[in-house]
Amino acid sequence: MSESTVLKFGGTSVADAAALQRVAGVVQRAHRSARPVVIVSALAGVTDALLAAADAAAHGDVERMQPQLAALLERHAEIAGRLASPDGNRGIQAVLGRARPELADLLRRVAGEPERRPALRDEIAAYGERLSAALLTAVLLAADVPARYVDARHCLITDAAPGRATPLLPDTEQRTRAELAPLLEHRLVPVLGGFIGATLEGVTTTLGRGGSDYSAALVGAALAAAEIQIWTDVSGVLTADPRVVPSAGTIPSLSYAEAAELAYFGAKVLHPKTIQPAMERDIPVRICNSHAPGDPGTMVTARGDVRAGAVKAIAHKSGITVLQINSTRMLGAYGFLRGLFEVFERHQTVVDVVTTSEVSVSLTVEDAGSLPDIVAELRPLGTVSVESGRAIVCVVGEGLRTTPGIAARVFATISDINVSLISQGASRVNLTFVVDEGRVQEAVLRLHEALFEREPADLDAAAATGAP
Ligand code: ADP
Ligand code: ASP
Ligand code: MG
Repeated sequence: MSESTVLKFGGTSVADAAALQRVAGVVQRAHRSARPVVIVSALAGVTDALLAAADAAAHGDVERMQPQLAALLERHAEIAGRLASPDGNRGIQAVLGRARPELADLLRRVAGEPERRPALRDEIAAYGERLSAALLTAVLLAADVPARYVDARHCLITDAAPGRATPLLPDTEQRTRAELAPLLEHRLVPVLGGFIGATLEGVTTTLGRGGSDYSAALVGAALAAAEIQIWTDVSGVLTADPRVVPSAGTIPSLSYAEAAELAYFGAKVLHPKTIQPAMERDIPVRICNSHAPGDPGTMVTARGDVRAGAVKAIAHKSGITVLQINSTRMLGAYGFLRGLFEVFERHQTVVDVVTTSEVSVSLTVEDAGSLPDIVAELRPLGTVSVESGRAIVCVVGEGLRTTPGIAARVFATISDINVSLISQGASRVNLTFVVDEGRVQEAVLRLHEALFEREPADLDAAAATGAP
């Protein structure tokens, strides 16, 4: 079998009929020269609406979100009416006709079976991707692309953790190949919903919010694809979050390490887990704009290229809590750090950034759900202080470590903003630090201006004088 290419389209790429028509054009062109496999997210806003309906039902209000649910099903119906063939349209109306009572039943069960709520939430959320994949299949068929709907739950096999399932890789690879290879051999174009999977027993699961990118990477890795393309609403990975820095520009190429750090520290354009499967199989990941398919976008490969001046991008993530643990016992003692991290492990809480001194450890967590228990269990180890409302800023670039003066430039630029928890060197590609959430946008804007929008001579002068 010749190599396939995975094309993933995010929610805004399939928001309405015009967007779906653009997607059909992209897939049509890909089908001429490659063997595309299509992964699609729920239509924009649909996952939020489905989860809001599940939450309302959990609070005993099964009816409150009914008008929104009816409207979102109607959006699919309307698009099918405009873009599908008469047969395809009938097929979609039948799918929607079944979804209506199924969703109503699931919502009633959410209200009535509290112990099953997390699993039912996944079942409800999965309708977003199941419906968008069925709809896109019909739209592609009407555009003469030989598309075939594939239930992603037959391919992505996961553990049973509700809302954030982990894929079981050997099963996922084997099932994905078994489902998709026969279609690809007949030059058919498989269309799968992203984000969703199932346990070995067939219980529906989801990979976490934004998880369709991860689905694309898993399918790409299983098929040893030639390329994984992430089609979104911006022209690639940009030098900063465009919602904070309107002048942010496209980064032509990134290494896997750079892309992974950016995704992890807040660049929403890629789900943090996307890079790992691609990197393991050395598959290039391209990020493209479905609203401007001619734009070059960003290419992520093993090498990337080292940008002169070393900084490629700035990512940031708000909603961070900093914990500081002070212990006199740590001085010269071993086993202290192990005991400390075991607390986080017990509560399945991920620690992002860590710094240590002789007698204290500072670290950041994003998921503060178990914080009261964590703090109680840390107390026997020393005094614990908790600061919420913090943000991580992450300056990324291959070669950061070997380029002199970057840290000086960064901190001179924001010298009036209080910086804590600085970490450089754990990874060769980033400089990470924490600021107050209320000042993070200003910090990112100023850093972007200093590192990307000024002449190098200005930068040297700023670093020398300490002026921002
Ligand atoms: P999709 O629905 O296609 O998955 P997302 O909304 O998940 O799209 O991700 C794309 C969005 O990510 C962009 O519209 C942009 O606002 C945001 N974003 C944040 N940081 C970056 C960055 N560094 N580069 C590009 N986009 C970014
Ligand atoms: N539809 C899911 C979400 O909104 C997955 C995705 O879009 O990647 O989180
Ligand atoms: Mg996304």
